[in-house]
Amino acid sequence: DYGLSEADPEVRAIIDKEKNRQFRSLELIASENFTSRAVMEAVGSCLTNKYSEGLPGKRYYGGNEYIDELEILCQERALAAFNLDGNKWGVNVQPLSGSPANFEVYTAILSPHDRIMGLDLPHGGHLSHGFMTAKRRVSGTSIYFESMPYRLDESTGLVDYDMLEKTATLFRPKLIIAGASAYPRDFDYPRMRKIADAVGAFLMMDMAHISGLVSASVVANPFEFCDIVTTTTHKSLRGPRGGMIFFKKDPVNGVDLESAINNAVFPGLQGGPHNHTIGGLAVCLKHAKSPEFKAYQNKVVSNCRALASRLMELGYKLVSGGSDNHLVLVDLRPLGIDGARVEKILDMASITLNKNSVPGDKSALVPGGIRIGSPAMTTRGFGEDEFIQVADFIHEGVQITLEAKKSATGSKLQEFMKFVASPGFPLMDGVLD
Ligand code: PLP
Repeated sequence: DYGLSEADPEVRAIIDKEKNRQFRSLELIASENFTSRAVMEAVGSCLTNKYSEGLPGKRYYGGNEYIDELEILCQERALAAFNLDGNKWGVNVQPLSGSPANFEVYTAILSPHDRIMGLDLPHGGHLSHGFMTAKRRVSGTSIYFESMPYRLDESTGLVDYDMLEKTATLFRPKLIIAGASAYPRDFDYPRMRKIADAVGAFLMMDMAHISGLVSASVVANPFEFCDIVTTTTHKSLRGPRGGMIFFKKDPVNGVDLESAINNAVFPGLQGGPHNHTIGGLAVCLKHAKSPEFKAYQNKVVSNCRALASRLMELGYKLVSGGSDNHLVLVDLRPLGIDGARVEKILDMASITLNKNSVPGDKSALVPGGIRIGSPAMTTRGFGEDEFIQVADFIHEGVQITLEAKKSATGSKLQEFMKFVASPGFPLMDGVLD
């Protein structure tokens, strides 16, 4: 048996190039992070070899005594990470990722063509919340269910709850979805609960982006108001790529969520669980109970605030005028440029972020904004001073885009990266191994 370098030097070389790219760039994509060496060790382990369709104690294959032990541990840690009482809440840790987790919930509680309402994608929502255009039902969610998205109030950049309430009263959705991919503020869960109750809808929160922040109690707690909470595990939570579904144990609207959701995951939409991911997730959820994790999540938020303040000082318009969480959304349209060009220029300087639509945009391909997140560079040890510097670099990239000419960004960035890599700079142990 050979190691990767001997068995496949080609793949080894690609991994090395990607590792180098991750190490030398400023990673500002709001949905990305650097997981720990311990998580990666579990993900790269023999757990990948085992089939275990079903749930602990109820498997369709033999030899699952240790896999059962692992999955039960992972479930217990998942409930503990969000301070949930196991008599009131259950969790399924098998979803392969965030989009499958969401579709599994829809499969569990809806019938084909039932009505749903999620935040519109151009206003910060996720594809899997029912995105469609005037011409096309883009996501599977909008193909199989009738989707009527709610939107932001364009003058404030905040969710337009009045409009959501009015539309829900007419549209009578069976499910209302909170949560977003590009929304810098907390959701108003009590208000959404009231709207859902008034029309008899389930209320689900997709906390994919902010699950680390929720676990550390640095943002509002969706579990107090929602029936179902889904999440990815690889964003602010800093685990392996995967998904989880939390559900209330008591029936909601006459539905036994526990059996409906477990059956939708398997055999409804998935086969064998990815046990290596469940192993990595269990490790991540252990980290999530540590004081260091709470301190990290606090820093994610304070760093993001420092970034937002500096950008505003530099004259940028931020959607909603700031941030409560780990991301900011910059509206570049007042400057007469688009997010696609700025993304490209910054990429050339190894600053990685993404173009993003902002409320009122006409084109999703050439959107008017950029999204900037703090989780990954906070893991790499950045504090507020470094995020202020990041804002200055982004400003420089925007100036270069505006002037369409080269400047000293490259050398300044190199100086900055040297500083980042200098001995004593608090890079997290184990990152990128
Ligand atoms: N939900 C939200 C809010 C997301 O932002 C994302 C991904 O960015 C997902 C779900 C989907 O997760 P995945 O890419 O793991 O399918």
